[in-house]
Amino acid sequence: MEIIKKQVIIIGGGAAGLVAAIFCAKNGADTIILEKNNRIGKKILVTGNGRCNLSNINLNINKYNKSEEAGKIFNQFSVEDTLNFFKSIGLMTYADSEGRIYPSTDYANSVLDVLRIKCENLNVKVVCNYEVKNIIKIEKFIITGTGDDFIADSVIVTTGGGVFEPIKKLGHSIVKCVPSLTGFKTEKEKIAGLSGIKINAKVSLNIGNKIYTENGEVIFKDEGISGIVILNMSAHLARQKTDKAILYLDLLPEFTEQSLLEYLINRKENCAYFTIEQFFTGMLHKNIARNILKSIKEFDFSKKCSTLTDTELEQIVRALKNFELKITGFYDNAQVTSGGVNLSEVINLQSKLIKGLYFAGEVLDIDGQCGGYNLQWAWSSGAVAGKSTINNN
Ligand SMILES: Cc1cc2nc3c(=O)[nH]c(=O)nc-3n(C[C@H](O)[C@H](O)[C@H](O)COP(=O)(O)OP(=O)(O)OC[C@H]3O[C@@H](n4cnc5c(N)ncnc54)[C@H](O)[C@@H]3O)c2cc1C
Repeated sequence: MEIIKKQVIIIGGGAAGLVAAIFCAKNGADTIILEKNNRIGKKILVTGNGRCNLSNINLNINKYNKSEEAGKIFNQFSVEDTLNFFKSIGLMTYADSEGRIYPSTDYANSVLDVLRIKCENLNVKVVCNYEVKNIIKIEKFIITGTGDDFIADSVIVTTGGGVFEPIKKLGHSIVKCVPSLTGFKTEKEKIAGLSGIKINAKVSLNIGNKIYTENGEVIFKDEGISGIVILNMSAHLARQKTDKAILYLDLLPEFTEQSLLEYLINRKENCAYFTIEQFFTGMLHKNIARNILKSIKEFDFSKKCSTLTDTELEQIVRALKNFELKITGFYDNAQVTSGGVNLSEVINLQSKLIKGLYFAGEVLDIDGQCGGYNLQWAWSSGAVAGKSTINNN
């Protein structure tokens, strides 16, 4: 008796699509990836600054916008399952001191290569330069695009961030897509001359009456500010679907306001030979110190620091502990999109509207913070969707 294989089409050959394809093919489906780029997995290559931070051993579901929904998928394909999966296809990995997982080679190519070779090994057909334009469901799915039409029993959409129009045509609603995990553009005057400077700060983001706080390294840029802690703040902002927020940097988080004031009063006495310009030497980058002082008043920098009054020292303390930056926009190199296919229309990654239609990865309204969270979502959802196409219907 001839065994008729189930036909599965995967739209998008990124992180989620490749893992989905491997699980479909492993379970015996005829699997085709349709990819609009000239090659699969291009984005994987740029992740983690070319090193690919593929997961995190301390995965915390609260770092996702929709933690409950994400958690249901991680219960079916966990970080451990992911690492075992990668091990089984030849990838060696390690975790850094903060739990971020990387390939042992420290090259993102290794991650793509093992996925690509496993797809070849399982006879997954890859069609590149094929942009899917429409999906029609009659009895089976008909997929049209920039090439011949395809027919499938199941379709997994893994097109990444942004709106994929064919899903809308099928009746799905899309939660507004906005950039997330990106640096902020800020008012320029306060950051003039700071570009390239890195500092460990406590960062607070005030959005309406909500305050988010995190400690970490921030990097000043020509037009704004970046660094992992800032990217995580952008995720909070993206989820609120607003850009109306104020950022406060505590530039000396190891001090309380009181202990800093006491320290500066002592410093003024111990280092009375410092000019005002030299007052922060050995303590704070001189350009940051200059901007802080300027934000208070036009000091005569050549005067001795002993001329600083107690009131001025109090103002300096307040400025250092609450360096305020108004956000004026985002940099356009966001790592992920917040928003996507509305989760209320999906059950265990399958569409509630169209049987046999699945979603995985960033196309869904699930996004995480920095540290391997987004790729972990892509791997887990890809694996679960891939298995489900075979186990269901
Ligand atoms: C610079 C950068 C660094 C990052 N670093 C990390 C990191 O270190 N760790 C981490 O966890 N996350 C990181 N991310 C985020 C991570 O890359 C994404 O979350 C992840 O790639 C999403 O996987 P995906 O498969 O859902 O989408 P994608 O990887 O975006 O794949 C979608 C695929 O679908 C294709 N496609 C789209 N539309 C169509 C169509 N109509 N027809 C056919 N094909 C289509 C696209 O060409 C693409 O290949 C980074 C992102 C960027 C941009």
